[in-house]
Parts: sequence; structure tokens; C-alpha cells
Amino acid sequence: MTSSAYFAADYQEARGKFLDAAKSAGMAVTSHPHPGKGPDGGALAMDVAVAGDAACPNALICVSATHGVEGFCGSGAMVGLMREGIVAERPEDTAVVLVHAHNPHGFAHLRRTNEDNIDLNRNFVDHARGHPANPDYAEVHPWLVPDDWDGPARAAADTAIAGYIAAHGEAAYQRVVSMGQYSHADGLFYGGVAPSWSNENWRAVLREHGANRKRLCVIDYHTGLGTRGYGEIQFERGPEDPEFLRAQQWCDGQVTSPEDGTSSSAAVTGYMAVAAAEEAPKPERTCIAIEYGTLPWETVLAAVRADNWLYAKGDVNAPLGREIKRAIRDAFYGDDDQWKADVFDRAVEVTRWSFKGLADG
Ligand SMILES: [Zn+2]
Repeated sequence: MTSSAYFAADYQEARGKFLDAAKSAGMAVTSHPHPGKGPDGGALAMDVAVAGDAACPNALICVSATHGVEGFCGSGAMVGLMREGIVAERPEDTAVVLVHAHNPHGFAHLRRTNEDNIDLNRNFVDHARGHPANPDYAEVHPWLVPDDWDGPARAAADTAIAGYIAAHGEAAYQRVVSMGQYSHADGLFYGGVAPSWSNENWRAVLREHGANRKRLCVIDYHTGLGTRGYGEIQFERGPEDPEFLRAQQWCDGQVTSPEDGTSSSAAVTGYMAVAAAEEAPKPERTCIAIEYGTLPWETVLAAVRADNWLYAKGDVNAPLGREIKRAIRDAFYGDDDQWKADVFDRAVEVTRWSFKGLADG
């Protein structure tokens, strides 16, 4: 059996494979039902499979589909980790917690964002204290979401974007678009104005399975940035941070940071690991993401922009809508045997590193 068998064609198949593998591995599963439905009318949930119990001093928590459509990757990796006995390799004092579909609505509907167009990795801010400013976003927003996708409004918008890049540079354009914004609910990389369903349920998982440990490792699976098939191990803060240094030690010096320019990701505010520090302040924490490359950044951003336009102004059932859905799936899911094998092999490597790190400290 190749690792391709662990990966699915849609959310419902992914969920079925995950639940079957968890059962075969003897893991206890708790499901958090989501109030929404899939495009097929099917139920949605965040499913949590656990090996080991509350008495284990250490825990590894793996998370998939923080960015919905990226969930094909993390789901396939987790199914393989259970099917090939990697979860069973856990040290006796380490529990393993697999979170299937942090953002099930986005996974099922092939969206990076959730049911309210929120990018979960911009949603973990203190909403009561006001939101991080991104004042230049208002200028580019109407160009990102033109009135039509294949007519004069789109053409004018593309001309305006080219002009903005010519005046300010490509890097400045990428920053203003992707750093996160809290002012335009129908825009790109929108962080929301309140904690989302996924945010609250992820916090509940952390309180239940993370807060009382001695050591806690979180691995969040992502796709869409970097070299196709390579799993870059990312840390969200700077290279002087003790958590970063510990992750480096665990992971053979392969961890990147946006603050020293080694990461394929820009620095962002409100990412999901913030919740680990807030809900599980006691354990020594090591929170990383694995970011697997798919297609070139320009192609990925174009797919995200198109899908956001579809959400705001298009028709998902029209031919253009179906074309946009195919493109966003391809942008975040390398649906071929080599990519899946690369994803799984790296997942095994990083899981084993985390087991050793948790055991050794
Ligand atoms: Zn992502």
C-alpha cells in the first residue's frame, strides 16, 4: 500500500478514513459537531482522537485544516501515522492527540477560510482590545474583489494592482494583502471581530488535553508555501525565542522563522498557537507548523483571490465557480502519489523528532 491510500478526495472521505484508522489504532474519539453543513448537506465536525491518558506528563497534539482546504494534507498524514504504527511508537509518558479538521467548514467547501470568511490564523487576537492595524488594505481591497471576474471590472482591477506593485514593490503588495486585516469581512486574510467556532473548540481541546501536561508539543499542518512537496518546519516568532531554540534542537536545525528571513511565511498576528500559551500556560510548550509546498506563490495567491471573489460576488454552481474551486483545490492539495509520499515521510520524521524531544526535554 502506498501512502496515497491515506489521503482522500473530499472532506467526508477524509473524515471516514480518519475515524476508521483511529478505531483500528484503539484510540478514543470525541467529536465536536459543527453547526454548518458540507456542500453535499453532510455533517461537519472537529474530531479528536487520543492515544494515552490524562496521566501522561507529555502530549503531542497534531492539527489539520486550520486553513480548511489545506486539510487534505494533514488528514492524510494523520491517517498514515495511525495506520503505520507511528502513533503507537509514542513513549509511554506521552499522549498523542490528533485533531481532524480544526476548520471543517472550509475543508468541506474547499475554502482556506471558515464559514464567516475568517482566516483562523488571524483570528487568535484579543478582540476586546482592538485589532492590529493594516490601514493600506482599504486601498487594495476593491481591486482584490472586483465586481466581475471575467469582464471590465477585473481588467481595471488588475491594471490597478500592477500600478500599486510598480509604485511600492512586490513585497509591500504581498504584505498589505496577506498580513491580516479586520476591516473588510468580504476581503482577503480577514481575521474576524470575535472568536470563531473553530477558535473556541480548539481552545477546549487545549484545556482538556494540553493544560495539565509537563511538556506540550503542537504540530499544525499547512500547505501552499515553498517548494512543492517539501515540508518546511516553521516557527512563528524570532530566532532568539527559547521555544524556537528548543524546536531547532529537536528538529535537526531545520526550523525557520519569519523574523530572520528563513521562513516562506511572512510574520502574521493572531495565529492558532497563541491559544496554546493562553489555554495551557503551565507546560513547557513547543509549537510548530509544517508548511508543505504545492504551486508557485503567485498561483496560490491568485487561487485565494478568485475563491474570495466567488464567496463575495460569484456563483459556486456556475461553470466559472467550478473552475475556481478546481484551482483552489490544486493550489493547496498536491493530489499525486509523489507529493503524498513526501508529505507522509516528512510527517513521520517530525513526529519521531517530537517524541524524542518530549521525552528528553
Ligand atoms: Zn495554511
